[in-house]
Amino acid sequence: MAAAKAGAESRGERDEQAGQRGDLRGPGHDRPRATILGVPVDCVGPEEAVSRCAELVSSGRGGHVVTLNPEMVLACQRDPELMQAVRGADLVVPDGIGVVLGLRLLGWNAPGRVPGIELATELMKTCAAAGRGVFMVGARPGVADEAARRMAQSIPELRIAGVHHGYFGHHEEGQVLQAIGDSRPGCVLVGLGAGRQEKWIARVRANATPGAVWVGVGGSFDVMAGALRRAPEAWRRLGLEWLYRLLQEPRRLGRMASLPVFAMRVALEAIRGGGRRHTKLT
Ligand code: UDP
Repeated sequence: MAAAKAGAESRGERDEQAGQRGDLRGPGHDRPRATILGVPVDCVGPEEAVSRCAELVSSGRGGHVVTLNPEMVLACQRDPELMQAVRGADLVVPDGIGVVLGLRLLGWNAPGRVPGIELATELMKTCAAAGRGVFMVGARPGVADEAARRMAQSIPELRIAGVHHGYFGHHEEGQVLQAIGDSRPGCVLVGLGAGRQEKWIARVRANATPGAVWVGVGGSFDVMAGALRRAPEAWRRLGLEWLYRLLQEPRRLGRMASLPVFAMRVALEAIRGGGRRHTKLT
């Protein structure tokens, strides 16, 4: 046990050092990890993302999965705790189109977006097929319950291990974690908002139920519950899902103002020869 922990720690340190060099590999995988402004990203498409998650569930190893967007990449620059949480994750998928385009500009072979809501839905199907439960924590009271009800209707055999809203205080956290741990889920979907959910997962996962796959899903429960609409297929194909969301939630405009900053910084990184300089194309 102690040896395994020491091994895991030294692997974490090795990955972190490699990440700073720009050739970080996903734990247990040979495929190189990309970095964008120092933040690791696995260049996987939707299918590989699902199969990597399924492997984490079936092996019983569990893990932390991050769905990365440009705002989070910038937030990592000013929040060391968030950077550490993302660097420690087992799988970091490019959720935002900005991350995919940025990776390509840096010379990485990024197949395309892996939208968090699609990954969450596929993971629910994987858990259903494997007879494992899914715990959903996040969103306003009642929203995750409605999301759970609708998903259980559309995915045969889906077992909802438990649901909790995302507005619990510090004093209630122990109870929430106890409920998660007691239900022994195959996966825990966490919709507490980008950044907050990644740091929360990194802090609590090991003590609650380390064998589960924990995924930060942002506002996915609002969409699953029908409180927000997802962009139609045509908008998604054009890479405009972010615009559709902005039109539904204009309060996000302030955050979106960071997108040109992201684009500028990535362009500078590309000009300075960042990205693939340490690795061959795979
Ligand atoms: N949320 C929550 N607890 C909080 C703050 C936010 O559960 O303390 C939920 C919110 O209700 C919404 C989700 O987090 O369902 C996503 O929030 P945000 O608008 O930040 O979207 P993101 O950028 O993460 O997709």
